[in-house]
Amino acid sequence: MDLPFFQIIYPDTTKYINGLLYRSCIELFSMVMENSLYKTPSDCQILIVDDEELTCNMLRDSLETAYKVWTCDTGKKAFELMDEVDFDLIVTDLKLPDISGLEVLSYAKGKDEFTEVIVVTGYASVDSATLAINLGVYSYLEKPLSITDFLIQVQKAIASRLFHLKSIRLMHRFDDIAPDEKDHLNDITSLYYFTRKLMLSLEIPEIMRITLEEVNNKIGSVLSVISVNLLGFNEIYAMPSTGSVTPTDLENIFKDLDFKSISFNQKNDSDNVLKSSITYKGKIGKTPPLTSLRYENIPLVVTDHVIGSLIVFFEKDVINNSGHTQFLYVFTSMVSSIIEHGYSALQARQQAKTDSLTGIANHRMFQESLEREISRANRKKTTFGLILIDIDNFKKVNDTWGHLVGDAVIIDLTRRVGNIIRVQDTLARYGGEEFGIILPETDLHGTEILANRVLHEVSCRPLLFSQQELFYTVSLGVAIYDNGTPLQKDQLISIADDALYASKRHGKNQVSIGAVTV
Ligand code: GH3
Ligand code: MG
Ligand code: MG
Repeated sequence: MDLPFFQIIYPDTTKYINGLLYRSCIELFSMVMENSLYKTPSDCQILIVDDEELTCNMLRDSLETAYKVWTCDTGKKAFELMDEVDFDLIVTDLKLPDISGLEVLSYAKGKDEFTEVIVVTGYASVDSATLAINLGVYSYLEKPLSITDFLIQVQKAIASRLFHLKSIRLMHRFDDIAPDEKDHLNDITSLYYFTRKLMLSLEIPEIMRITLEEVNNKIGSVLSVISVNLLGFNEIYAMPSTGSVTPTDLENIFKDLDFKSISFNQKNDSDNVLKSSITYKGKIGKTPPLTSLRYENIPLVVTDHVIGSLIVFFEKDVINNSGHTQFLYVFTSMVSSIIEHGYSALQARQQAKTDSLTGIANHRMFQESLEREISRANRKKTTFGLILIDIDNFKKVNDTWGHLVGDAVIIDLTRRVGNIIRVQDTLARYGGEEFGIILPETDLHGTEILANRVLHEVSCRPLLFSQQELFYTVSLGVAIYDNGTPLQKDQLISIADDALYASKRHGKNQVSIGAVTV
């Protein structure tokens, strides 16, 4: 297409569209898209919406040499600019003086769904992140911004915008190809959108939700299920096309399906295969009773190993569509890697919260749990107990027996304490040979009893090591959080710590109770 000609008609595009038949519309649209083929990143127009002048200027300066950049400081001005200019990318602050950045995002997508939007947030909120993903955000960045990260995101977003423009142009050029080929092209495009959406979320439940929803929407299944068995995680996620599935429903389905090998959160499931063709006569959530279901079971494969399977249930009278099967295979191959990535990230997060020597909560987790417990006690108007433990004369253990034996003592202590606390209690390695126990909904009396049990449990029998007996003792300090006298986390810890040192001062191997001195 001749570029000068295109430029002449561009300002009157709407007038032309109104006057032309559908076919001509498509041609015109193709022409618009033809132009985008010639569009390079430096032709792209970027709008920055931020009420902080400093941020606005900094972002503009970083982009100005490579793109055409506009800035404004309110949502209203952004709307006005968007009405005038066809922006390729919008970078908006989440918190604007008049409206939310999410409204800017949705306005931009309403005008042109292929406009890319990057949302910048001063505070991370899961709710707004989820909303932004659903509205089609390209990415969201947290303040303070690293300019390098920002520039990389902008480059990627612009590349994505140009890719879309080119794809649409191609789609419309192929308007007269056979319907199934057109469907195929549509599938490829929607797969692209889908994976993009999925990549934005790293939380497993969100990845599963998006994936299962997409499967149901795309192929009209009544229920889809993903089972995974990797990195020690063994989980099932299920989603019906309407209503919700309860664990009991699922258990019933799997029982009826002769789904022998999948069980809830149980380890050592090796053979995730459906055994026989099934007939299900139960009720799934709010959906009407399903008299018969047909299923397809597609393994989730990453490189050479199976990490789980996707099982899709159809009404029995829905005929098998080979297009759907093809779609499912391509789809699962893309989803599998994202799921595996999500679980690796989850595992990394979990490991970051546990201590590698003992497997119990680490210092960070201890601080987080304590914070959670304080707000829970305030909310529920209850008390909870905190015990700090320090091994007595531990330097001597190390010096006499060596560090390996020192480590064995640390592990032995966590086992002994682990055996006597309740499931809701948190035992954490607070420091080298110092430990903390948080006892939810426990008063002074209960906490003191447990502290004395720990004392006894440690001193009553030796640790056997290479056929030698090693006796050791601990000192403990107790503090109680009472919602009637709210304390800061650090105040509470220091009360327990002072009590612990009182135990040391008074001869070790004993429990001391801390007093509130605020
Ligand atoms: P006290 O009775 O007053 O507590 O005396 P202590 O000897 O236990 O003194 P302190 O609590 O200050 O000693 C901490 C020692 O614990 C120092 C350090 O070498 C040792 N330690 C800390 N972490 C580890 C660990 O992971 N393994 C081993 N083997 N030793 C550790
Ligand atoms: Mg110590
Ligand atoms: Mg010590």
